[in-house]
Amino acid sequence: MKIEHLGIAVKSLQEADDPFARLLGKENYKHESVEREGVITSFYNVGDSKIELLEASNPESPISKFIEKRGEGIHHIAFGVDNILDEIERLKGLGFVFISEEPKDGADNKRVVFLHPKCTNGVLVELCQEK
Ligand code: ZN
Repeated sequence: MKIEHLGIAVKSLQEADDPFARLLGKENYKHESVEREGVITSFYNVGDSKIELLEASNPESPISKFIEKRGEGIHHIAFGVDNILDEIERLKGLGFVFISEEPKDGADNKRVVFLHPKCTNGVLVELCQEK
């Protein structure tokens, strides 16, 4: 596993892209909408990892709900894995609970699943595999 990216919930990409581009000294390499998840994303390369800014694309989006409850900030940590199905089986065997056990198409050409934060000390964990 490696840390593939950190997801950060923001109210507005238009407002958040500027400080992050200045912080990292580079522009994002893409904006991508994932309509099924109700998010618009903005990706920055940081060494071997990435920063994923997430803006809600509708009021029912998990990002809207997250910001309502906790404000802007770190939303999830994503671990890159070589075989997501094997990792799901391995972690299920260890008692971890998934929000959904079925990998879905995520942003940035990935298959993704999320673990339930109740089994990871309140941290939302994403597993992702390059498609
Ligand atoms: Zn992510």
